[in-house]
Amino acid sequence: MTVVDRLNAAKDAIALRARDCGRDPADVTLVCVTKTFPAEAVVPLLETGHRVYGENKVQEARAKWTELRQRFSGVELHLIGPLQSNKTREAVETFDVIESVDRPKIAEALAGEMRRQGKRPRLFVQVNTGSEPQKAGVLPQEADAFIAECRQSHGLEIAGLMCVPPVGEQASPHFALLAEIAARNGVTQLSMGMSSDYELAIQLGATHVRIGSAIMGERDYSKP
Ligand SMILES: *Cc1c(COP(=O)(O)O)cnc(C)c1O
Repeated sequence: MTVVDRLNAAKDAIALRARDCGRDPADVTLVCVTKTFPAEAVVPLLETGHRVYGENKVQEARAKWTELRQRFSGVELHLIGPLQSNKTREAVETFDVIESVDRPKIAEALAGEMRRQGKRPRLFVQVNTGSEPQKAGVLPQEADAFIAECRQSHGLEIAGLMCVPPVGEQASPHFALLAEIAARNGVTQLSMGMSSDYELAIQLGATHVRIGSAIMGERDYSKP
């Protein structure tokens, strides 16, 4: 199977699962995660017309996508990895969607950069649904206050929520928790589900699934 075969298989699986749940397949966006893969590996996917991609590092994304964007129009790039406040300028320049907003300092820095650049990437708040000490994301019990602060203190529109459930745990309670936090805060988009659990996430309301290895193949982190 080529990457294009696997992209098409994932799209079919998404559509099937959405319909099974009585949802419109068009309401689920496939974010193809291309981190660690070089630009050439992404070209066949872009040639099919697929336009929504995710990267977890600002520098890697800039290096890869500056060139790809010159060749392919209409790309929508999502930042799905942690954001450092000293990278907010580059993040606002590079990304159309920033899914990892998770603390006041970042919210403030993003608000400032968005004003300066006159560019408004869509923002998602990342929630650390498993309350894991090492993981990015606002704690579930602090999510309501943080979303309110983003909106009121920084004038930011929060388009969605994102989570990465703990490895080795049943994902469904985490997806359900994210959906619950979104609903009570009037947030409509949910980025949840990866290669191993995106169908479950769709069942629980995902509007964005972030699929990497199931399309791109295994990642090799040993390469520079
Ligand atoms: C790498 C990554 C993904 C994709 O993971 P796969 O299991 O390869 O599909 C999704 N979300 C985030 C935040 C990631 O860092």
